[in-house]
Amino acid sequence: MSLIVQKFGGSSVANAERVFNVARIVTETYDKGNDVVVVVSAQGDTTDDLIAKGNEINPNASKRERDMLVSAGEQISISLLAMAIEKLGYPVVSLLGWQAGFQTSSAHTSARIRRVQPNRIRKELDKKRIVIVAGFQGVSRYDDITTLGRGGSDTSAVAIAAAMHADLCQIFTDVEGVYTADPRKVKNARKLRDISYDEMLELATMGAQVLNNRSVEMAKKYNIELEVLSSLVKAPGTIVKEKSKMEKMLISGVAKDTDIARISVIGIPDVPGCAFKMFSKLSAKNINVDIILQSIGRDGTKDISFTIAADRLEDAKAALNDFVENVGAKDILTSTDVAKISIVGAGMESHAGVATKMFEALYDAQINIRMIATSEIKVSVLIAKKDADRAVSAIHEKFFEE
Ligand code: ASP
Ligand code: MG
Repeated sequence: MSLIVQKFGGSSVANAERVFNVARIVTETYDKGNDVVVVVSAQGDTTDDLIAKGNEINPNASKRERDMLVSAGEQISISLLAMAIEKLGYPVVSLLGWQAGFQTSSAHTSARIRRVQPNRIRKELDKKRIVIVAGFQGVSRYDDITTLGRGGSDTSAVAIAAAMHADLCQIFTDVEGVYTADPRKVKNARKLRDISYDEMLELATMGAQVLNNRSVEMAKKYNIELEVLSSLVKAPGTIVKEKSKMEKMLISGVAKDTDIARISVIGIPDVPGCAFKMFSKLSAKNINVDIILQSIGRDGTKDISFTIAADRLEDAKAALNDFVENVGAKDILTSTDVAKISIVGAGMESHAGVATKMFEALYDAQINIRMIATSEIKVSVLIAKKDADRAVSAIHEKFFEE
């Protein structure tokens, strides 16, 4: 007998028919003699709808009350799923985050899981019940309901798998697994049999949007193997695991991120400490900086360009105005008309010429590169937003179809 954690995303429980579909998957797993803990997110667009409802009443509402509101979405889906499972004739219980032992920080709307104390879950499993847990939520040490940030129920599932030493953690979603590129946009995109945590992390942060990146970080930390698979199509998914037993591929995927902005600070005095002073303004505001490019100094000044998430652009500008005045830089230029295209692959560590191949694909497609950044397993380029889809296709073709 195994302990299996199964997580179902919002689209997998979007309506009554889908809820029954999930109930069948869960009860089949239970019928095989397994203990089953199920984590669900809110149905369909419920979380977005709740956020909109809140904004209608008070766009400046406190984060505590926002959490109280949006956590209701998962309360609906766990109870509905439990009702469906009852109807199929199985013993089941639904639990909210706090009942399932999710203790979190008190950073409302983006709380961190401190620990999961699964005593109640264990008791229910001992009674041979299927346990349905609300994803995305927990309780702070002040006994207030918290949420983990958008897409947080993947992390809830991995946290339970880690705390309970589950044998398997399956993440069911509306795609069949992790692909070499977005299968809706790139016609020859292939489903990967497996992918390493590090590659998945790069893809997740890069906008491949299959798994929330905090969940992958946690899976890596506790060495939890994840299987990403479809709740609607019965087919093997993609296994996310440690690198050792991987299928050998040069790169595992091409990803694009169009929600970014480029900032250039022009005419910064070319003296020690300027980069430090500038970026500390941003880190003080919790703004993550991605690709950074510094020009060669000339006439005693230099320019520094970098990218950030587009939704932090106004905050970043405000933070930098200060810097520009104090240090005497000339100007701040910004653009949101950019996209970041990345290739990710553990194979890069041991193969030369991977970046060259990517640049060749862009050259063939006559797409201009504005910035480049690399890490051991990733090459990213910044290009014009309008070229993003074309770039992904061209690069994908170069690596996977030639
Ligand atoms: N329902 C939450 C959201 O939409 C959590 C999740 O889906 O994982 O962000
Ligand atoms: Mg959701």
